[in-house]
Amino acid sequence: MSRLQQYVEESKPLAKLGKPVDYIPALSKQPVDQFTVCILDESGNQFLSGNTKGKFTLQSISKIISFIYICEHLGIEKVLEYVDMEPTGDAFNSMVRLEITEVGKPFNPLINAGAIAVCSLLPGAKKEERKEGLWQFIERMMGEKVAINEEVYRSELATAYRNRAIAYYLKSKNFLKGDVEDAVDIYTQQCAIIVDVEILARIALIIVNDGVNPTSGERIFSKKIAKIAKALLITCGMYNDSGKFAAFVGIPAKSGVSGGILTMANHANMEGLHGKLGIATFGPSIDDVGNSIVGMSFLKRLSEGFHLTIF
Ligand code: GLN
Repeated sequence: MSRLQQYVEESKPLAKLGKPVDYIPALSKQPVDQFTVCILDESGNQFLSGNTKGKFTLQSISKIISFIYICEHLGIEKVLEYVDMEPTGDAFNSMVRLEITEVGKPFNPLINAGAIAVCSLLPGAKKEERKEGLWQFIERMMGEKVAINEEVYRSELATAYRNRAIAYYLKSKNFLKGDVEDAVDIYTQQCAIIVDVEILARIALIIVNDGVNPTSGERIFSKKIAKIAKALLITCGMYNDSGKFAAFVGIPAKSGVSGGILTMANHANMEGLHGKLGIATFGPSIDDVGNSIVGMSFLKRLSEGFHLTIF
C-alpha cells in the first residue's frame, strides 16, 4: 500500500467521531462514515481516494474565494476599510469582538462577520448582477458552472438568525454597504455552492500557484492577492484552531462546517506528485470548533510524513 493510502486508512476510523454540523438543518443528515481525498499537482498528476465525485457544500471555504474576488475588484486598501486581517481566537460566528477594538469592524474575512461584509461590497447595481459577477469568478476557479444546493441554502437562510444579527450590527456601524438582507442572502448562497474534492483541489492549486491555473496558464488573480490570501489561510483559515493547525500541520488551509478542507503545499515530492499541490479532503463529522476530524487527522499525517510545513 502506498504511504498516501496508508494515511487515509489510518485516519478513516476517526470519521465516526464527532457529528455533522447540526445548526444547518439540511446538513445535519449527512452520513458520517465518508472520507474522500484529492491531491493534484501542477502537471495534472493526482491522488484520489474514496468517492471523489461525492458532493458537499462549500460553507466557510467560500469565504476565501469571495475575499480574493473583492480584493481584485476594489484593491486591498479599500477592502481593509471594511474588514481587518487579524485572527480572533473566537468561534467563526462569534459577535463578542465586534464591540471592542475598532468598534464594529470584523476582525478578518474568514469569520462570518467579515465574509458578510465582503458580500456587501460586491460590485454591481442590483443583487442579481452582484451575485453573477462573483459566480463568474468562482466558475473560473472551479472550472465548472456554479450550482447551489437549494435545500441547504433555504434551510440555512430560514434559520440564519445569528448571521442576520451580525449583519444588522455591522450595518449600524457602517461596516456593511447597501442592503443587509441582500448581503446575508448572497453570503448564504455562496456557502451552499456544490463542490467535490476534485473541484476544491483545483481551487487550492490556483491559490498556491499565486493566482495562475497551471493547466491552462490563465491568470485569475494577482500574485499580490495570492500572498495575502495564503497568509490569511495560515492565520485564520481553521477558525479558532488556526494556531494549532499552523503549528502541527503548517500549511495554508480553509475548512467549512459541511466537512470539507481546502489546503495546499508549496514544494512537495510524494509518490508521483511533485511541486505545488492542491489538496482537498471531505469528511462530514466535525469537532466543536467546526473542523472535519478525519480531514485534520489525515492532513497532520500527510504533513509530517512528507514534510509539508512551511515553517
Ligand atoms: N454557512 C455557515 C454559517 O454561516 C458557514 C460556517 C462555516 O462553515 N464555518 O454559519
